[in-house]
Amino acid sequence: MERRDALGLMGTAAAGLLAGDLTNSTWAQSGEALAMPGWDGAKGGYVLPPLPYAYNALEPSIDEQTMRLHHDLHHAGYVSGLNKALVDLKSARAANDFAAIKAISRDLAFNGSGHVLHCIFWDNMTPAGAGGTPSGDLGKALGDSFGSVDSFRAQFSAAAGTVEGSGWGILAWEPVGRNLVVLQAEKHQNLSVWGVTPLLVLDVWEHAYYLKYQNKRGDYIKAFWDVVNWSDVARRLTACTGT
Ligand code: MN
Repeated sequence: MERRDALGLMGTAAAGLLAGDLTNSTWAQSGEALAMPGWDGAKGGYVLPPLPYAYNALEPSIDEQTMRLHHDLHHAGYVSGLNKALVDLKSARAANDFAAIKAISRDLAFNGSGHVLHCIFWDNMTPAGAGGTPSGDLGKALGDSFGSVDSFRAQFSAAAGTVEGSGWGILAWEPVGRNLVVLQAEKHQNLSVWGVTPLLVLDVWEHAYYLKYQNKRGDYIKAFWDVVNWSDVARRLTACTGT
């Protein structure tokens, strides 16, 4: 299957997800280009993927205890919240009772966005061959969209550093203008642009850094650059552009 076809089908699958259709397995079958561990087609539900490295692998940038709590408890909570929202929607449809639809829809967006962003976040980091400066198509795209890689890095750090409350800094592909944008997400789901695909995400909830960095979010952001897996970011961009 051509990559563009696969991406088109992924859009269809995402629409199925929002409709709360637990039996939709199109994503698992056709989403090779941006396949993410986090969905179990056999179970028909979302699952917590294991970290792609040891809990202590990102030391000293991110400490082991933070990684354990963050992955095993916080991310797991979003997975169960997302699955619960889907079950609640199914029950609401069966009973034709939508009295709680506002709350359930919010749970779906919050936990669904939380699950997706954490899946990307873990893969965006690596203990080996990390950091440095992106080159190739990714380096060129960053230059085209932000002026230079350094300007991108400065904008991303500033955006992540000033998210109000809990949220994320996000580098994303914006398909209408076919360029890259940096977004600030509040919580997991707010302040997005519809249709974008996250390429590089940085969790700036306090649970992501407070044990080691306390109130010094800027020091955590600085340390994050040392563990960025640029080849993972480049892979995600290629899946979007089809080049
Ligand atoms: Mn988190």
